[in-house]
Amino acid sequence: MTPSERLCINCHVPMVKAAMNYKGLKFEARQCPKCREKIFTEELTMKAISQLEKNRLEPKYTKQPIKIGHSWGVTFPKEVADVFHLGNGKTKLVMHPNVEKNRIEIVLE
Ligand SMILES: [Zn+2]
Repeated sequence: MTPSERLCINCHVPMVKAAMNYKGLKFEARQCPKCREKIFTEELTMKAISQLEKNRLEPKYTKQPIKIGHSWGVTFPKEVADVFHLGNGKTKLVMHPNVEKNRIEIVLE
């Protein structure tokens, strides 16, 4: 049995993958082939949340650097700040400048 495989609590048969529709979005669930009971595991819930958060974000954002004193800043769109919890006071942004690729990568810690 794979870790994501569950037995139906009523019928004790392995549940199968099933799609669940909610507000036009498709989520993966598990369904008993016998009694049609559907369940949503913690793992599937986490997956669904990531999917919802992904849907809130644009594939890319274009920003202009802002001069702040002697430094330069960049603003984050509200939905990006929300999804990545930028406002919780603990989030650290680690910058990885890559000159060859003309890229500054920001990693959350
Ligand atoms: Zn069942």
